[in-house]
Amino acid sequence: MAKKCIECGKKKGIFDYDYAGLSSRHGRHPFPERIGLFYLPRISKQGIKTDFLCRDCASNHKVVCKKHGEIQGSFKFGSAPVCQKCVSENTGKSLQDYYNELARNVSNNSENWGFWPIEGRVKKIGREIDAQFGFAGMQEVNNAIRSSNGAGPARELERIWDGIGQWRG
Ligand SMILES: [Zn+2]
Ligand SMILES: [Zn+2]
Repeated sequence: MAKKCIECGKKKGIFDYDYAGLSSRHGRHPFPERIGLFYLPRISKQGIKTDFLCRDCASNHKVVCKKHGEIQGSFKFGSAPVCQKCVSENTGKSLQDYYNELARNVSNNSENWGFWPIEGRVKKIGREIDAQFGFAGMQEVNNAIRSSNGAGPARELERIWDGIGQWRG
């Protein structure tokens, strides 16, 4: 006997994915901790799957990104909708990558430590670090520059990052 959706009563087709009990964080979220956590309704007991929730009914339950608000899009292919704004924020770079790029540009000239000529790029790096790793990530990179290149370049970096996120330089 075909299962029926616990919310609308529609019969489960062979290719219909079952969303009963699925987590709102199930999916390829770049920042899973930003996704408001809930579980779709289910009636089956552990281990015995007797219920079915259809895709349309699953999609009536709105998934919210804590940073960008309600996510446009529906549950599909057995996953929750993904926040496209989070996707565009996620560059796939690590703090080490950002540090490397900055450290490469430090010169030994005390008049100019190398960051002002590429101010725009340095600001962009700051915004990307803030979006992905927050204030603590910016601090880590700034501290690493101070350790490897000294207080001068670190101070220059602090001033260029002024106003990005919580950063005040
Ligand atoms: Zn339904
Ligand atoms: Zn988001």
